[in-house]
Amino acid sequence: MIQLFPKFEKTEFSCPVCSVALDSKGYYIPGMRCLADMHCPECDREFYADLPAGHGLYYPMLLDKETGLVSNHSGVDWFAQWLERSYRERRCEKSTLEIEVLATKRSIVLINCLDKVFGHSVLKLLNAQYYIDNEPDKGVVVLIPKSLRWMVPDGVAEVWAVDQTFRNGAGWNDALAEEIQANIERFAQCWLSPAFSHPHPSEYSIERFTRIAPFPLDEWDKRLDVPKLTFIWRSDRLWTTRHTPTIGIIARIVNKARRMFPYLKRFAINRETKAIVELATMIKQHVPSLDFAVAGFGEPCGLPSWIEDLRSNAPDVSIEKNWCRRYADSHLAIGVCGSNMLLPSAHAGATIDLMPDDKWGNLAQDLLFRVDDQRETLFHYRLIPASISAKSLAQIAAVLLFDRNHHLLTMKKELCDPRSSPDSL
Ligand SMILES: [Zn+2]
Repeated sequence: MIQLFPKFEKTEFSCPVCSVALDSKGYYIPGMRCLADMHCPECDREFYADLPAGHGLYYPMLLDKETGLVSNHSGVDWFAQWLERSYRERRCEKSTLEIEVLATKRSIVLINCLDKVFGHSVLKLLNAQYYIDNEPDKGVVVLIPKSLRWMVPDGVAEVWAVDQTFRNGAGWNDALAEEIQANIERFAQCWLSPAFSHPHPSEYSIERFTRIAPFPLDEWDKRLDVPKLTFIWRSDRLWTTRHTPTIGIIARIVNKARRMFPYLKRFAINRETKAIVELATMIKQHVPSLDFAVAGFGEPCGLPSWIEDLRSNAPDVSIEKNWCRRYADSHLAIGVCGSNMLLPSAHAGATIDLMPDDKWGNLAQDLLFRVDDQRETLFHYRLIPASISAKSLAQIAAVLLFDRNHHLLTMKKELCDPRSSPDSL
């Protein structure tokens, strides 16, 4: 953590022109970015630099106030481009910050969860539990998009909610920066949480955030009378486009020119629907009692009545919670890698993450793990190429559903303990 107020801790950056150490003038938080306001004593240039919070912890960027150019020494283009664009398009509009005071505190830890990506915001929010449980003297203040208010855990001191979409989540609003500063200065002290982009699973429990207990793993076998499987849908990242080259080409065109080719989009979505029905049908042949559902962002349509269609184009809190309840009832969640898999993997008994070729570099970033034993983790979280066919995926899903007991019998740590008598098994 670094202190923002009353004393702003120095942050170390060098002038990209003179290479001398920059002076820190103060902090500046115009939205998603937590910045240091910096000045070069040699050439008089002024800069904003990322403070060590969120992705700024790993990829700190330096922005020249006059030119708007970003020094991207980390080589992470997307993070540099977000900063450059947000500064170029900066505005000063009356902020929509909604302050909710839940407890009175003198000192606070500020967790900035604003972001352009839903998953990034959720992951930053998960940092809150540590401070609530371990830093009782400091009140936790979460700065969040309003749509995530429902996931704020009990125990925070204040919620600062901004009414903005994720699409605009990297925006720069000078009026918001002023408002954030004024609110920080209501307190005797304010610290900025590093808001780790991937907090360790041992530091949070998902039910503290969604208020929904995950699938009870000890009831796995008992619930196999009616195995539940949920496919996680997202219209902009289809599974079937990855295993059929022709469809893949169409999908890429569709994603680039969706409005121009609505019939192509419909074609790709119909193909995806057909493949999901094929997958569900194959598993159902092994398990007639299968309860299969499709959930996530998308228009509900095209599925047979025996598949529950929970999709929505405009999910509200009630729908989001309903999805989480379905994940928590599911032995298995399957979906294409992305932010869409965070809450399913956190609640379901097991997860199959379908990895497109261009997502292997993001491996495991979209999963919230529940078990910590290496072998049990490998069993419960399968990362497999999205090029897999419905037939092979059905086989993996069926084995995962019914082989867990055998896997644990031979692999569970307590059952391989040489100090235990075989009689005790
Ligand atoms: Zn300089």
